[in-house]
Amino acid sequence: MAHKCRALVLFCMDYRLNRQLFAFLDHEGLLAGGADIVRLAGAAKNLARPASEAVFHFVMEQIDTSRRLHHIDTVYLVNHEDCGAYGPEDIPDSNQELQVHRRDLLAGAKIVEEAFPGITAHPCFMWLDGRCQAVT
Ligand SMILES: [Zn+2]
Repeated sequence: MAHKCRALVLFCMDYRLNRQLFAFLDHEGLLAGGADIVRLAGAAKNLARPASEAVFHFVMEQIDTSRRLHHIDTVYLVNHEDCGAYGPEDIPDSNQELQVHRRDLLAGAKIVEEAFPGITAHPCFMWLDGRCQAVT
């Protein structure tokens, strides 16, 4: 039997955002509509500036599996405030936090859309309080 869901969400592993993640899914209609969830520290950083080839391929394979098995047409890339995967070497000045994430989110979105024609990427940034903004 075929299973289908709308989207895959790439999100950080950070436990502090469990409730916020599910509130986000609910808000986007993805609890009822369904979303595959991949949780990995740093989320889009693993596409834009991966620590290794292996982690990059792991994420791409998860998206490909979701596409093949569940026929997703959307990938949400969601980075968040105060992410432990981003150290001072990434964000030397906290005023640059959103800017650094924006760069990685947009780069990740481009990688996903080029690798998977027909899939739309939605890059988003989540604040610790759960507010989430689209990144453009
Ligand atoms: Zn994080």
